[in-house]
Amino acid sequence: MSDELESDGPGNFVADKVREDLAQGKFGGRLRTRFPPEPNGYLHIGHAKAIVLNFGLAELDPAGRCNLRFDDTNPSAEEAEFAEAIERDLRWLGYEWGEHLYFASDYFEQLYDWAEDLIRRGLAYVDSQSGEQIREGRGDFHRPGVNSPFRERAPEESLGLLRRMRAGEFPEGAHVLRAKIDMQSKDLKKRDPIMYRILHTPHHRTGDAWHIYPIYDWAHGQSDAIEGITHSVCTLEFQNHRPLYEWYLEAIGIPEGERPQQVEFARLNVGFMITSKRKLAQLVEEKHVAGWDDPRMPTLAGMRRRGYTPESIRAFCERIGVAKRDGLVDVTLLEHALREHLNATSPRAMAVLDPIEVVIDNMPEDFEHVFSLPLDPTDETRGTREVPLTQRLYVERGDFMEDPPKKWWRLAPGREVRLRGACLVTVKRVEHGDDGEVTRLVCEWDPDSLGGSAPDGRKVRGTVHWVSAKHAVDAEVRLYDRLFSAEDPGAGDTDFLTQLNPDSLKVVSAKLEPWLGTREVEERVQFERVGYFCVDPESEPGALVFNRTIALRDSWAKLAKKKG
Ligand code: ATP
Ligand code: MG
Repeated sequence: MSDELESDGPGNFVADKVREDLAQGKFGGRLRTRFPPEPNGYLHIGHAKAIVLNFGLAELDPAGRCNLRFDDTNPSAEEAEFAEAIERDLRWLGYEWGEHLYFASDYFEQLYDWAEDLIRRGLAYVDSQSGEQIREGRGDFHRPGVNSPFRERAPEESLGLLRRMRAGEFPEGAHVLRAKIDMQSKDLKKRDPIMYRILHTPHHRTGDAWHIYPIYDWAHGQSDAIEGITHSVCTLEFQNHRPLYEWYLEAIGIPEGERPQQVEFARLNVGFMITSKRKLAQLVEEKHVAGWDDPRMPTLAGMRRRGYTPESIRAFCERIGVAKRDGLVDVTLLEHALREHLNATSPRAMAVLDPIEVVIDNMPEDFEHVFSLPLDPTDETRGTREVPLTQRLYVERGDFMEDPPKKWWRLAPGREVRLRGACLVTVKRVEHGDDGEVTRLVCEWDPDSLGGSAPDGRKVRGTVHWVSAKHAVDAEVRLYDRLFSAEDPGAGDTDFLTQLNPDSLKVVSAKLEPWLGTREVEERVQFERVGYFCVDPESEPGALVFNRTIALRDSWAKLAKKKG
């Protein structure tokens, strides 16, 4: 995968940097990265970018590796369910970390020891001001901070307080531990940042062992150092944390050449998708979607259920390169990668989503002929499926027009068309219901065209897909579309919930050819002429549910062209 990282797209400056460091023998030639999710939600397409990047970087050196580290320092929002889902989704995406699974919570004791050490060396103190006073005292960009009245507290006193904080003797908010750096620093992050706060919330791994929890900045770099990470790759919003990251590493005594190097890149944003965990959680909690794995969600679990292949997501992440500035990536790039891979890998079969009945009048009622049609017309080695032709069939309502224009090549009165792979038929009579809706097409076929072409070589331009009524398998088909109708949901002052696409899910009852009725959960297929579909996990024997992954062509592009 390492070669793919440099192949297409706007380049990968992080990979360039890692190569340079390796060439110069930095970190003793060692290469170690990590993917550090916080287990407070499911992985989404933005995480995929960070995953492909970090695991890809590790492959730049044969001895390189990428750790999975749960950044579980905040017990309030974190749950074991999320940690399990993250591991599952990472494996699905195609990554493996072997024994290198770590938890920031495993380092709580070490972090605490370092904190006591900092206190002893006059580099940290317990502050007993209120949160409000601390915020106020920190100042802002224009206003220098002022020292806390507790700043010169004796180390012994701070140590005593910290131990009692740890033991749970104080209410939340009573004290915090702060690094003693510089309240006048131009770098606001360095104005005596908080290292620990009191939280009486039990932790999903450490239970109620702790009553203080480390702040991200105090935990992240130290976790990197413990694991011997060389390149700590993170997103741009952490750029202004870097000086503090480095200050802490120096303070705990990591020698200069061994300090992990923080490298920032731009978050991935994809059009029509949101990658804010808070907003994704809101969609789930307020039931705008059926769950984290709703096939419309930009989560890996949702995309998996939708029918995305891991290969297509990885290819997309590699092709777009690594950006230094935030931007919005066109969703059609992702969809293109998806169609490309599905086109190359999905077997074809026929399904009718909006059925209208066809009777072939001049065919004996008990006629039955079974064709053996290829699962992939471009690759015969992939085998065939059996498709029965009978007198009564279903075709797609949209493939018939009662009063068509001249250049309509599909079904219409008096026009001959091909039933894909089967025979030639002509509509002779159209039956309507009381409401005027077409209920049935009475056709005639040319019995000599069995197999699909006319013996006299006459030209028939149109081909439609069909399913034998007698052998059809019923299925629920969920036609998913983009979850949002705005490309940048929530941009400006707009409430992103007002931009939900009302047509993001339409459910239809479809008729499938028999082979499709035997597909299993997560199998992906192409419904010929319609799109790519996959079997939903809610399927049961005899009650199949298919999800539309994506239509064959981009209907949104067509709409945009019409408008433009
Ligand atoms: P939050 O702050 O809401 O928890 P987060 O982005 O920090 O969100 P994490 O679970 O902590 O979520 O992210 C794990 C890793 O994935 C981090 O290194 C983060 O930088 C990276 N990441 C998250 N979102 C994106 C994104 N949209 N594009 C690229 N990388 C991302
Ligand atoms: Mg985070």
